[in-house]
Amino acid sequence: MESFSEEQLKNLMTEHNLNWRKSRDFIAKWASALLTYGTDAVEFLKGTVYTKGKINFGGAEYPAQFKSGGNNDLRRKLMAEQKPYVAAKTNLEDYGIRLDFAKCFLCQNVVQGYDAVDNPTIDNVIEAFGEFFIMPNRYPAFAGHSLWVPVNHDDTKERVIPADGVLAPEKGKTRGAILTTYELKNFIDATRKNNLGAIRNHVLDAMSIPGHDHFHLMPDDTPNFAMLNYLMKEKDKQYMKGVFTLKNTPFSTLAITSDTKGDYPDFISYILCKMELDNQVFVLSYRDGIMLVSPRKNINDHKRIQVGGGIHLHFPDKPDADYLAKADHHIVKRGEYDWKKYIE
Ligand SMILES: [Zn+2]
Repeated sequence: MESFSEEQLKNLMTEHNLNWRKSRDFIAKWASALLTYGTDAVEFLKGTVYTKGKINFGGAEYPAQFKSGGNNDLRRKLMAEQKPYVAAKTNLEDYGIRLDFAKCFLCQNVVQGYDAVDNPTIDNVIEAFGEFFIMPNRYPAFAGHSLWVPVNHDDTKERVIPADGVLAPEKGKTRGAILTTYELKNFIDATRKNNLGAIRNHVLDAMSIPGHDHFHLMPDDTPNFAMLNYLMKEKDKQYMKGVFTLKNTPFSTLAITSDTKGDYPDFISYILCKMELDNQVFVLSYRDGIMLVSPRKNINDHKRIQVGGGIHLHFPDKPDADYLAKADHHIVKRGEYDWKKYIE
């Protein structure tokens, strides 16, 4: 497999504010895996600049972290040129996993990962954990941008199938996938082992491949998480040990921490399952024993809203007025959400 020089990796990591000792091994594996898609990490992310600033909501200012950098044109060009992956096995059933190969890019990436066992030059898997892969995001937004991907395509028997982009609630069905204890346990182990933080969008807010659940992963010292300590500093309302809302934010944000009693992945799954069954739309972020849940509102026509997963970490996708107005309309404000009915 091709690889980058230590100097190239060092420059990339410095540009993205990453700690060399902590993240070098992951970034090296990530950059090599990304090359199997023909994407040169150094070239693709050139010119990324992080700055600290402020965002204004409801007349109050909050510190925020911004990123600027010009890979959007390149990303669009590569996406337009992307060719479907050709599987090595003629009969897809021989892979022994649930696939929607023709329509789902993640399924194609997973199959490439399986084929790589016999052909290391196409090895796009950074690390395999049983039925889950860590794989690079094909079009990364920052250094180390990867995905945690179940090898199986979602089982959508009990899910609402979108019609013309509309996901209207249906009795006995959910719109997003329900994260199981088993999945969350694997996800938490995978992030801990590789010093990663994560964001999970919802099918109704910015999940790019809604039929194949995934978390976005990134080194946990990435600037995306720069405001986490500030956010965690003050509690708004405590519900039980290790479970509270945050004060230093305009948005209603629940922190479920590993200090909670009982089995941590099981407790997260319990809360998120109740929210999903109640047709709630929410975005998650996770770092080192802290799961933040940020609910959305005003999804009146049941269409996707595309606010995205970074803003409750005070890492807005775009800090411009239009984006902030959209976030203001769709993100539930502090004190305006009935957390109790999902926690107890
Ligand atoms: Zn899939």
